[in-house]
Amino acid sequence: MKTESKKEYDLIVIGAGSGGLAAAQRAAEHKQRVAIIEMGQLGGTCVNRGCIPKKIYWYAAEFAYDLKHSNTLGFETNDFKHNWQTLQQASKQYIKKLNDMYRKNLSQKNIEIITGNASFQSSKEISVGGVLLTAKQIIIACGATPVVPDIPGAEFGITSDDFFELKNKPNKTIIVGSGYVAVELAGILNALGSDTKIVARKNSILRKFDQSIQSSVIDYLVESGVEVSLNTDVLSVKENNNQLLVQTNNKDHTSVDALLWAIGRKPLVSDLGLERTQVTKDKNNFILVDQYQTTKDPNICAIGDVVGNHELTPVAIAAGRILSDRLFSDKEKEWLEYKNIPTVIFAHPPVGTVGMSEEEARAVYGNKVKIYEANFVSLRHSLIGVSSKAMVKLVCLGKEEIVIGCHIVGQGADELLQGFAVAIKMGAQKKDLD
Ligand code: NDP
Repeated sequence: MKTESKKEYDLIVIGAGSGGLAAAQRAAEHKQRVAIIEMGQLGGTCVNRGCIPKKIYWYAAEFAYDLKHSNTLGFETNDFKHNWQTLQQASKQYIKKLNDMYRKNLSQKNIEIITGNASFQSSKEISVGGVLLTAKQIIIACGATPVVPDIPGAEFGITSDDFFELKNKPNKTIIVGSGYVAVELAGILNALGSDTKIVARKNSILRKFDQSIQSSVIDYLVESGVEVSLNTDVLSVKENNNQLLVQTNNKDHTSVDALLWAIGRKPLVSDLGLERTQVTKDKNNFILVDQYQTTKDPNICAIGDVVGNHELTPVAIAAGRILSDRLFSDKEKEWLEYKNIPTVIFAHPPVGTVGMSEEEARAVYGNKVKIYEANFVSLRHSLIGVSSKAMVKLVCLGKEEIVIGCHIVGQGADELLQGFAVAIKMGAQKKDLD
């Protein structure tokens, strides 16, 4: 490698996504000289091709569902139209605003932004575009990218990254997968008028979540018009005249405009030159860290999706801030507890969940677990003729009935969950919630 110059910092952060930005800014607040390396736009996955555009498209879908049903209460909206390009433009404008805001914030904190691909030369040295950077401390926060399976024709499919770049709404879409992305994008496409099918390889979707969440979400998806095909593997994809012919193990040969892979994400580590450090990875290539986010290399920490533990923006932000506090202030013993982390799936209606599922709790605590569950059709849905049921479930432990899990599917669950998460974190009992 030819190096032209050498620059020294207290901290170098690789990746200007949610975690990296949080760590860099907190370190700068502790008067450290910080550089942040990014090969794309500031804000990473969340801002540019994740939470932010998804939330904007989700709002559009919520408007569409409301418009569709509003004639029940006297609105004349039977023939409403939606313009996909306007939605895309609104999303891109908002993202641009955030990109600019991050640039301004970094500049105000004297954090140097370095554009390019980072490659470790040693535990304390990184090269970017011919420049050698050194720091006592390096944080890897370069995130993850969608997985595409190794089957014939997989390249004809798109991923969530490409979804927000689609110039037109696909009229007919297959989404392969069963997690957050599959459920969220299926709801959006369906609401905006795409004939949408989820293809899941196992006997349910959202299998990492409580059973009652799974069944409630499937009911709502199916009632809203999404086809859910379980126990189905996609075997191959062929392209013909802008149509994709999708073959599954159920002898289906469905023809669609778009196929979207939503089967998980893999860490972006292959070009980092980690072999020139002591950093180790697990079998799925996620970087291994201890509870303090430190890798096997004492000079290098890692946070966010690249460590594969609760791949969620608020988690990466919290991990980044706590880490920089620990490294650069007197909070030397601080670490992020990866427990009772609330999360929301932006389905229609949304899902809010925190703590253990019933199945997890029973596996650990057996008959010390008591479940309280309510299922009901909300007034709003009852009015417009939706029969799927909202669900609220508390998983409680022992005689004191400590609440160790709370699972909600229903309008407002996304916001509602936050208060319950605080209560659970504080050790609430069922009687407190009563
Ligand atoms: P997820 O991990 O949520 O779900 C992917 C699922 O796809 C797996 O759980 C698995 O389910 C299934 N799958 C895996 N491999 C295959 C395969 N080869 N063929 C078919 N199905 C397969 O991944 P997503 O891509 O949905 O999301 C990635 C991460 O991003 C999430 O885990 C989450 O942390 C984050 N995210 C968060 C959001 C939010 O906070 N609202 C929104 C979007 C993403 P099974 O075993 O049941 O088949």
